[in-house]
Amino acid sequence: MAKSKDKTMDKLVSLAKRRGFIFQSSEIYGGINSCYDYGPLGVEMKKNIKELWWKSMVYERDDVEGLDASILMHPKVWEASGHVEGFTDPMVDCKQCKSRFREDQIDTSKPCPVCGNRDTFTEARNFNLMFKTFMGPLEESANVVFLRPETAQGIFVNFHNVREAARKRLPFGIAQIGKAFRNEITPGNYIFRTREFEQMEMQYFVRPDEDEKWFEYWKQKRMDWYRRLGLNPEKLRYHEHGKNELAHYAKAAFDIEYEFPFGWNEIEGIHNRTDFDLGRHKEFSGKDMQFFDDQAKERFLPYIIETSVGCDRTLLTCLIDAYTEEEERVVMKFAPAVAPVKAAVFPLVKRDGMPELAKKIINDLRGNFRVFYDEAGSVGRRYRRMDEAGTPFCFTVDTESLENGTVTVRDRDSMEQQRIAIDEIKSFLNEKIS
Ligand code: ATP
Repeated sequence: MAKSKDKTMDKLVSLAKRRGFIFQSSEIYGGINSCYDYGPLGVEMKKNIKELWWKSMVYERDDVEGLDASILMHPKVWEASGHVEGFTDPMVDCKQCKSRFREDQIDTSKPCPVCGNRDTFTEARNFNLMFKTFMGPLEESANVVFLRPETAQGIFVNFHNVREAARKRLPFGIAQIGKAFRNEITPGNYIFRTREFEQMEMQYFVRPDEDEKWFEYWKQKRMDWYRRLGLNPEKLRYHEHGKNELAHYAKAAFDIEYEFPFGWNEIEGIHNRTDFDLGRHKEFSGKDMQFFDDQAKERFLPYIIETSVGCDRTLLTCLIDAYTEEEERVVMKFAPAVAPVKAAVFPLVKRDGMPELAKKIINDLRGNFRVFYDEAGSVGRRYRRMDEAGTPFCFTVDTESLENGTVTVRDRDSMEQQRIAIDEIKSFLNEKIS
């Protein structure tokens, strides 16, 4: 079991590097632990995931507005949020082999999982996960700032700004995509847990007596989104946090989990944060964070329902879910909307005007779709390269194309081919991708 899971991940990591999805950061210097770069295909895919999230959370509704807050914030924010005091993980070291673990992720009454020795663990020490740096030239405590460990706080502190500017009444939400940083003790499983990552978070402000209704709504809505990404529904499930798992601010929490080769793990958290966040910012800033309902003539702190997902983790999920080994090929079966390249155009041979016609088709598609032109090697080999990139459709220009203005279109998953008119390519792609 352990072997096959490692094998799948190894093969995926190697494909991701070979095809230009993901590279180790600073590779020419030997790499830096848990940092990764997205290559030409990876960056397209990540952009698609962010766009699909934004579309579902902002464009398809009228009660959610966008925000892009800065990564560095006033240090008081992190006191109010509880991160300075409580954003810690218990860390233990093995005195024998010097390996480091999160105490809550291993059984310290058993031998060390790395060297097998018993009773070699240090006492647990609490380790704050926030990255610290200094603002301005003086490295002194008055100038300490933190790299945000979540994007959510940028939303809470802008509650009134967004509400007033966008003229919102309850319930309404604020959505944000951005980088977050956590000095994780044990990063790993490729891009599953890294120290720098991107989050897609939405905070939905509701009347306190409507929290449960909206919590249920967002729980469902977010699960639907993963189905829209084309993920195998059998590998998705909810995990409800028990009383002892709940974060200090949460009244209820559900994770959406995916079955990775290394087991079931969280991809998204949906939390009922109550009025904790606005209450704390009210207390620490001295500003009134309440909402005034001018119809009911009531003033109160809204409750917050949060949906929080890692963009990198979603991308990893899509890669794993798409990875398929068939008899003669490896193919990435991405949903067309997620696929980094939507279509490839090939001339069957490099003569008789075929490259010219293929390039004309490519030029007509550019601007609407990410497309790829390839004339190198046999058509079979070109198909295989596109299979590994997960390109859903390949159009081939052949002799008949020059005669009657049609091309073959080959479907990535079924490998079946049909002929369509060159004039119809755009509408064909539009229909398949949406
Ligand atoms: P864990 O308990 O596994 O450390 P968490 O419960 O603290 O995670 P949240 O704070 O709820 O995670 O973060 C919301 C989402 O952000 C997660 O579901 C995940 O998709 C993403 N995320 C969190 N930490 C990381 C990380 N270190 N690397 C990549 N993505 C992350």
